[in-house]
Amino acid sequence: MSAEHHTVIIVGGGPAGLPLAVVLGGWHPFYRGSQIFESRYAPLAGYLQQFDDSLLGLDLQNLVRGGLKPVDLFRALHHPRQLFESLDQVAMDFRRGAPLDTLLISREPVGGLWNGAPRNLLTLSPGQWMEFAFLPLAQHAQEIGLEVDVNDLIVKTDLIDYYHRIPERFEVGESIRCGEDVVAIEPHERGFALTSRDVETAAERCYTCKYLVLATGQRGKLRDLGVAGEDAPFVTSRYDQPADFPGERIVVVGGGRSGDWAATELHDAGKQVYYAMRQGPEVHGRLIEDSRNGLPYYTRIAEILESRSPRLQTLYRTRISAIGGDGQIDLETPEGRRVVEVDHVIKEIGGIADYSILKGFEPLQLEPMRDNYRFQVDQVRTHVHNYESLDIPNLYIGGYLASGIGLVVIAMHGTTYAIAGDILQKERRL
Ligand SMILES: Cc1cc2nc3c(=O)[nH]c(=O)nc-3n(C[C@H](O)[C@H](O)[C@H](O)COP(=O)(O)OP(=O)(O)OC[C@H]3O[C@@H](n4cnc5c(N)ncnc54)[C@H](O)[C@@H]3O)c2cc1C
Repeated sequence: MSAEHHTVIIVGGGPAGLPLAVVLGGWHPFYRGSQIFESRYAPLAGYLQQFDDSLLGLDLQNLVRGGLKPVDLFRALHHPRQLFESLDQVAMDFRRGAPLDTLLISREPVGGLWNGAPRNLLTLSPGQWMEFAFLPLAQHAQEIGLEVDVNDLIVKTDLIDYYHRIPERFEVGESIRCGEDVVAIEPHERGFALTSRDVETAAERCYTCKYLVLATGQRGKLRDLGVAGEDAPFVTSRYDQPADFPGERIVVVGGGRSGDWAATELHDAGKQVYYAMRQGPEVHGRLIEDSRNGLPYYTRIAEILESRSPRLQTLYRTRISAIGGDGQIDLETPEGRRVVEVDHVIKEIGGIADYSILKGFEPLQLEPMRDNYRFQVDQVRTHVHNYESLDIPNLYIGGYLASGIGLVVIAMHGTTYAIAGDILQKERRL
């Protein structure tokens, strides 16, 4: 099979991969300054004022030596303050230049895991922290006539509409191919060879590229319970809304934020929920306490648990040991074996960053990263100035998979400019 060649291939079209398709598609950032940026970051403003060219041409290695990481530089330019007040606070603007030959391949539509998030789910962060610098959410809202407070949490449906609009808005749709799963990335004389599989037809395609950006996210591979009966039709790892679950009784397996959301919403829709998790009540209780004042659904789950509603039974330190075809679920609890009969099992047990698609390379050095928001990922060790792997030249790591990127920060797309700048500088395109 002959391979299709591109200078850059990005794997993963989530908030980390998608903006790279736009920036490599020619939309480059330029310093324009803003009052708030200049007052808060005066020395940096003074330095950037001398710079008429695209910020992608900055010597980021030099800035890192001076103690400034690219993720922090571009975050300060984009969000000179945490609160959004007006569009002119963003200290950079974007002008279109020549595109670099780039292809983005992703399993899902653009927007990454937000495609599969429950429809009523609210983000953990204010809406404007989820936006890309080249299209502030406030501007998007103005353009499409959406009423939204960008400093408030944003609901999944509005957020995913924002991401879905990006390819057309920035005319990069032709360099994006969704519905393809990359199953192998191997060394090749031109750089990298990729094999992908169409998610519907299983047809294989082959690609080669000189630079590869891995932006496959923290849930590249979903976790399994690893028990008999897990493939029964009433077991799912996809929770969207209560109406998808006819019947009364539901086991939610989890204990993290996604499980808390599903258990709360199903309870409030009148279902009988058995909420099973491996952790103890003290760990779960801490997450609820830490979140109940900032996140409305945590205020609600706290109320439900404090009211001891019989329709939300928490089963702590519990493991599912078997799933019977008739809906009988075997649970191992601290008090011994227990069987519950249910209509549905919803698995909210998360996923892992999947590096196993890289085959035949030096092993990547990984660093475990954990944060207070319950995000956990083994990040890849990279050079600080460009997020290129320490182990595999020309392999760049996008978003939260790159070491040194905090997890829930205003930086989901924080790796974009350093990666794009490094590739464009190597290609002498700046
Ligand atoms: C429930 C939930 C709520 C969250 N809330 C917030 C929040 O409020 N604020 C915040 O900053 N972060 C939040 N996060 C963190 C979240 O990880 C980011 O919001 C964001 O989606 C990460 O972007 P990403 O592009 O790195 O990964 P993803 O969004 O996971 O996108 C990666 C994409 O790559 C695709 N992919 C993976 N492997 C392959 C492959 N082999 N071939 C082809 N495609 C592949 C995936 O299908 C996916 O579409 C939340 C996460 C979850 C689960």
